[in-house]
Amino acid sequence: MSASAGARAASQRLLLLIPTTTYRTEDFMAAARRVGVDLVVASDKPNVMAGEFPESLLTLPFSDPIAAAAAVREFSARRPLDAVVGVDDTTAVAAAAIAGALGLRANPLCAVSATRDKLAMRAALATAGLPSPPFTSFAVGDDPRVAARRVRFPCVLKPLVLSASRGVIRADDEAEFVAAFERIAAILATPEVQALGEGARRILVEGFVPGAEVALEGLLTEGRLETLALFDKPDPLDGPFFEETIYVTPSRLSAAAQSAAREATAATARALGLRDGPVHAELRLDRDGAGRDRAWMIEIAARSIGGLCSRTLSFGTGMSLEEIILRHALDLPIGSLVRERSAAGVMMIPIPRAGVLEDVRGLDEARAVPGIVDVVIAMHKGQAVVPLPEGSQYLGFIFARADAPAAAEAALREAHRRLTFVIR
Ligand code: ADP
Ligand code: CA
Repeated sequence: MSASAGARAASQRLLLLIPTTTYRTEDFMAAARRVGVDLVVASDKPNVMAGEFPESLLTLPFSDPIAAAAAVREFSARRPLDAVVGVDDTTAVAAAAIAGALGLRANPLCAVSATRDKLAMRAALATAGLPSPPFTSFAVGDDPRVAARRVRFPCVLKPLVLSASRGVIRADDEAEFVAAFERIAAILATPEVQALGEGARRILVEGFVPGAEVALEGLLTEGRLETLALFDKPDPLDGPFFEETIYVTPSRLSAAAQSAAREATAATARALGLRDGPVHAELRLDRDGAGRDRAWMIEIAARSIGGLCSRTLSFGTGMSLEEIILRHALDLPIGSLVRERSAAGVMMIPIPRAGVLEDVRGLDEARAVPGIVDVVIAMHKGQAVVPLPEGSQYLGFIFARADAPAAAEAALREAHRRLTFVIR
């Protein structure tokens, strides 16, 4: 596929894979409208309107990439497609399989599959000689008391296939290891997780990597990495659970630490064979024996940042991250990939305890904090809320913009302080 110079998006057709569980529908749909592309939307559950719009609404089995690719190949014989984009983790593999079957711009299927299996990813990175903590894995059915004697502490136990820190637990000794193992096994036993297949039957154990954590948002084009944004995560992530809260960009780390993060992300993409499309990487930074900054890859995903966090980002003359992703897939001109000048931040509002969300108070007060751009509550009253490590949702998102990162961070903390979540 190639868009010759001057080709207009209106003559191109894009398939967007949007699972029912994503936060991203609105932002990707808005981007597709701005690009002006002929849009086909596929979901994993039948849309009530699908019968009326068979040419623009599809139902695809995202968890079976080969079947999804076969179905789209049939569809594209009637309605040729110019690009396919998956919006998140659960659609990244299916998008790669479809793109591969149709010869469209995307990452190789095996590279994306490796990012969806934390054990495969660790093995690939260690083989490539990238800084890696020691790691091993156990079957969920193994005796955790026996397993605990075979690992070094502190360590982190985690499922191979989940996300949003769900089931990721630090253990400092054998007793904590056994408790964490049993807790993860219970999460993996739920039918919804079992449906994810083989990967749901193992637990990965890695050495705990200390240090400051950053998230790198990037775009790969034919193997070359462009850094779109580097976010600091100013809240310490030392466990036992690893709640994502505040992301602030630009990073306040030294230039040397930032370039270590960029180089490690590029090297990781190369090692896995990722070549085209967005990447979201999480890294920890420390210094080696000679005092040089060193970046440890925690994980890389072949997708953009999750939740509503992309709303912190704006490029060139106001282009969204979603529009950049669609334009890249369609091989359309993008223009500047330089982020706006101001600092920006987002807080994923964590769930403090389990229960039923009864009320949210202080919204106006939170929105009135200088620097706060928006507060979005993502859960409705009456909804059951589950904290980490079992839960996988956020109460909502707070967005801030300021002259400097510290001011954006302070605004997020003040807005959060003014919010009260009544949980029964
Ligand atoms: P998920 O896909 O659920 O986000 P990750 O592997 O990214 O799982 O782990 C979530 C978080 O847990 C990371 O962002 C990091 O803060 C922490 N974490 C995971 N593995 C390690 C490790 N080996 N050492 C230190 N912290 C870790
Ligand atoms: Ca992660």
